[in-house]
Amino acid sequence: MSVLITNIGELVTNEPGEQPGAAAYTAAAGAALVIDEDRVAWTGPAARAPAADQMVDAGGRAVLPGFVDSHAHLVFAGERGAEFAARMAGQPYQAGGIRSTVAATRDATDDQLRANLRRLAAEMLAQGITTFECKSGYGLTVPDEARSVAIAAEFTPEVTYLGAHVVPPEFAADPAGYVDLVCGAMLDACAPHAKWVDVFCERGAFGRDEAAAVLAAGTAAGLQPRVHANQLGPGPGVQLATAAGAASADHCTHLDDADVEALASSGTVATLLPGVEFSTRQPYPDARRLLDAGATVALATDCNPGSCFSSSMALCIALAVREMHMTTQEAVWAATAGGARALRRTDVGHLGVGARADLVMLEAPSHSYLAYRPGVPLVAGFWLNGDGVVEGIRTGSTAR
Ligand SMILES: [Zn+2]
Repeated sequence: MSVLITNIGELVTNEPGEQPGAAAYTAAAGAALVIDEDRVAWTGPAARAPAADQMVDAGGRAVLPGFVDSHAHLVFAGERGAEFAARMAGQPYQAGGIRSTVAATRDATDDQLRANLRRLAAEMLAQGITTFECKSGYGLTVPDEARSVAIAAEFTPEVTYLGAHVVPPEFAADPAGYVDLVCGAMLDACAPHAKWVDVFCERGAFGRDEAAAVLAAGTAAGLQPRVHANQLGPGPGVQLATAAGAASADHCTHLDDADVEALASSGTVATLLPGVEFSTRQPYPDARRLLDAGATVALATDCNPGSCFSSSMALCIALAVREMHMTTQEAVWAATAGGARALRRTDVGHLGVGARADLVMLEAPSHSYLAYRPGVPLVAGFWLNGDGVVEGIRTGSTAR
């Protein structure tokens, strides 16, 4: 089955192989795209489009690669609305708030965790996120971390083992013993279900040496590293990430010149999570400094019940443009191709021929509306692996 999507107002393709940043953002007006089964088969001017089994008239709407959310914490139970309200009333965010979610997650059944994740994954897809990463990190025992990564793997191939999220209360007097567990029996139980290993390298969580030990053990078990780095203050996270060859250093809110240089001169993506600064009322990361230095920047939601309970990539784009001085093109690239680079994926984040047919159609003529109309649901439809869900848009034959 092939599908021709024609009369596209703006087709964002982000052809791969370009340099990061605005220069890599590529788009065309008056365009068309052909999906063949689960792949992009053709893109070009609408007037030259080949025939296909089915035709969808985009009516001048914009079509983008599906968003790639490279950082999310979706295996958990409970919620922390009261903590959010208290924070907005003046109490500071501290990493220890994670522990309340840990208690609820341990108490939950597998089916409760699965149902919550299913709901959040559907919520993301409805907002145009067609690829998402999912971390463990709210179980913090061997069986609870193992079931967390196993359940995550039912929904995405981008599963991250985050046993080193925070030291659980029962190890408060023996944090070194907990690191040994994370690098030992817990890793052994989780590695078969995970692609990535992550560590929350931060004051109040894990320091330089502990984080390095976690990444080394994970790498030895066949996992690829990524790091929660420099979120709440300056620290060794970014240097640790680049030295370890991590795919991504995430947060990057408090960077010194050496951190920026390390990111700009390495293959490690700087993944910015502005929903966190929004939801914790903290200063935003300096995206311009990173981009102007030549670093590769991704945007992700960090959807989690504590520091940012939003699954909206459109919100991240709007914040990146309005608060972090990214151009609309840079922000959309970072939310698609940037996220793909942060996950070392070449099949998503762009719509070049051969890419996975993951597309978003906006109820808008251009990508800029994602920032221009903040808070408005703009996803008119999407295709996931070639399967389309498009409501109220004219098609040439029976809608799939
Ligand atoms: Zn996170």
